[in-house]
Amino acid sequence: MATNLTAPRDPRLIDRFGRQVRYLRLSVTDRCDMRCLYCMAEDMTFLPRNQILTLEELVRLGRVFTELGVTKIRITGGEPLRRRNVMWLFEQLGRLQALKELVVTTNGSRLAELAQPLRDAGVSRINISLDTLLPERFRRITRLGSLEKTIAGVEAARAAGFKRLKLNTVVLRNMNHDEIEDLALFALERDMDISFIEEMPLGVIGDHDRAAVYFSSEEVLRSLGERFSLLPSTESTGGPSRYYRVSGYEGRIGLISPHSHNFCADCNRVRVTAEGRLLLCLGQEHSADLRRELRGYPDSDEHVRRAIVRAMSLKPRGHDFDLGVQPVIFRHMNMTGG
Ligand code: SAM
Ligand code: SF4
Repeated sequence: MATNLTAPRDPRLIDRFGRQVRYLRLSVTDRCDMRCLYCMAEDMTFLPRNQILTLEELVRLGRVFTELGVTKIRITGGEPLRRRNVMWLFEQLGRLQALKELVVTTNGSRLAELAQPLRDAGVSRINISLDTLLPERFRRITRLGSLEKTIAGVEAARAAGFKRLKLNTVVLRNMNHDEIEDLALFALERDMDISFIEEMPLGVIGDHDRAAVYFSSEEVLRSLGERFSLLPSTESTGGPSRYYRVSGYEGRIGLISPHSHNFCADCNRVRVTAEGRLLLCLGQEHSADLRRELRGYPDSDEHVRRAIVRAMSLKPRGHDFDLGVQPVIFRHMNMTGG
């Protein structure tokens, strides 16, 4: 059957609920040099390399998505800075005229060497994951990571002059909740933002009972209120964080609260996994296979473009995260990135 390949009249990505997608989170690898215990199980099987999108395929996707109205791309993973030749990808994406923001989420382990090249390639903001300032605890939470390397990465990023730097902290009761104020101060003293995240039930991790370690954003706020004077802010960086200004500091404190403060109504995001699966919601399985279109039609972007437009009708209203039941989403966070 012949496929109608004429471009849709309205090339914007708008879903059934009237939400326009302008933000793509692109996972460039499922592999990582850490095994954070809320993200992965200790023993993980990673995808064979031929199933992962090539760097050229990732650039094609970046181009098509920006033609469809996406103005912000976040490169994520797994650990994106561990992907071989990943700087070439940043350089190519950094040249896309329609892209207003190219950003990255990283565990920081390679930032000491890559912060400046990222800045030079056009990356404007970096999110760095940091759950603790205690070396032993860092080792326990990341299983393989070194606090020293991540801190060196933070300092290199500061020296490179990014528009904005942010720390991401997943808060777990009795694992790092006693460090919320110290982590906030660490960020604020460096003019950085920090977002505190409620753990999401993605994948079987086998380390802890997610309901037992749940620490709500309200509790985070209470704890911070003892040390800082916080003012709710309407500012947004286009993501799910709700921000607070802190008297006396430039940096802001953000809360990402998938459980206690559902952010789905404003969702402007889609994700592409390292194997090219377009995911319409982090907490649901609705998806479209973009790798098939990329590889089936190497000389024309029209098929992948149409697949993306079609997929908008699959975007669900929101996630159904429930800590009281076993995970319904078996995909680990490293498949889709944050
Ligand atoms: N490796 C990079 C890093 O750690 O920043 C990028 C990928 S990582 C999957 C992206 C973000 O997701 C990190 O900030 C991490 O803390 C967060 N994350 C991972 N698993 C999570 C979970 N189960 N719930 C909430 N956040 C999670
Ligand atoms: Fe790796 Fe990031 Fe997942 Fe930690 S959160 S295991 S650093 S992908």
